[in-house]
Amino acid sequence: MRAAPTQEDIRRQNLGALLRRVHILGPVSRAQLTAGMGLNRSTIGALTTDLTEAGLVLEEQPRDPGGGRGRPSLVVRARSQRVYVLAFGVGVDRLVAARVGLGGAILDRREIQRPGGPFGVDETLERLAEFAAALSEAAAPEARCVGAAAAVPAMVARDGGELRYGPNIGWRAEPFGARLSAAAGREVVIGNDGDLGALGEHTRGAAVGYDDAVYIHGDVGIGGGIIAGGRPLTGADGCAAEIGHMVVNPDGRPCPCGSYGCWETEIGEAALLRGPGRGGTLGRDAVHAAVDAASRGDKDAEETLRTVGDWLGIGVANLVNLLNPRIVVFGGTLRIVYPATAAQVRSRINRTALATHREHLRLRTAVLGDDAPLHGAAELAFTGLFDNPLEFTSS
Ligand SMILES: [Zn+2]
Repeated sequence: MRAAPTQEDIRRQNLGALLRRVHILGPVSRAQLTAGMGLNRSTIGALTTDLTEAGLVLEEQPRDPGGGRGRPSLVVRARSQRVYVLAFGVGVDRLVAARVGLGGAILDRREIQRPGGPFGVDETLERLAEFAAALSEAAAPEARCVGAAAAVPAMVARDGGELRYGPNIGWRAEPFGARLSAAAGREVVIGNDGDLGALGEHTRGAAVGYDDAVYIHGDVGIGGGIIAGGRPLTGADGCAAEIGHMVVNPDGRPCPCGSYGCWETEIGEAALLRGPGRGGTLGRDAVHAAVDAASRGDKDAEETLRTVGDWLGIGVANLVNLLNPRIVVFGGTLRIVYPATAAQVRSRINRTALATHREHLRLRTAVLGDDAPLHGAAELAFTGLFDNPLEFTSS
């Protein structure tokens, strides 16, 4: 039997919940916090005072006090310049690092594009460590880093340290979390980029307010993340939602994972750029060029895009039947591909998905764009702060 929570446990939980609320919703009045959290006014007052003294939030008079009687309710605001996390994004074609303030705004960032495919672990670690040092140096002297996390295009073990396998970057059984922590000089948790893209869009993007959502991320491969009942679906090993490796065409092409006809072989960048005259170059620019060519009436490009749209719809319909999401969000290069194939995708869903499942289904592109996994990494990095805000008080 678990021991009953102590007063101190309850206070810690309430502090974390209140701080998280301010982080997600932005500046919010004490009155709104009182109503939203179901706690009484004096408790909210005591909690915000603790968080203010800890340097995590500011309280200020509302800009527009309104015409009501009595004293206007103080507005609680996150101290985003003082409290921040480091978020890293390892992409197949870019590396990015950002300083993300409490409240979720990207305050500063460093980024390089790396077209041309697989790259080494050592080089990646070196670059990310340089980015981390530059970002920390540029922060105000009183600013405090409260966590760090990285999104990687690979399956990640449940404890968030070991990278199991990244077919499209060729990394396997790599203690990437430990090595990045050593290189960056602080603990860095790692997560799958599809999972973190889903978390980002669910927290601050297209899937806000949807407890059942599927995020699909396209680049060379296809990644994904699933939010079920308001929580990320992790699977037994932390490796769920490898939707790019659903087999949709057993007679199809070989996949880097070793199987044949995985969804990503039919809708990944290579499928779109496979047609004649495409030159074999992958990447965002090539995807744009292929979609443009189709819109200008290039017959080969039109045909290829139509085929990709069909496969995209077939895969989404399977996911819809399996998971019954309320929203499907298209991220990465699928932000370019989906709008150009929306008719095919809808038509496939209408033919294949169950009527009950598609009735209230929304299909949207990612609001956070290519930064969805980066925002998700920031949310992951803030988790420790919300678990125990006052641990971060001193200094
Ligand atoms: Zn595969």
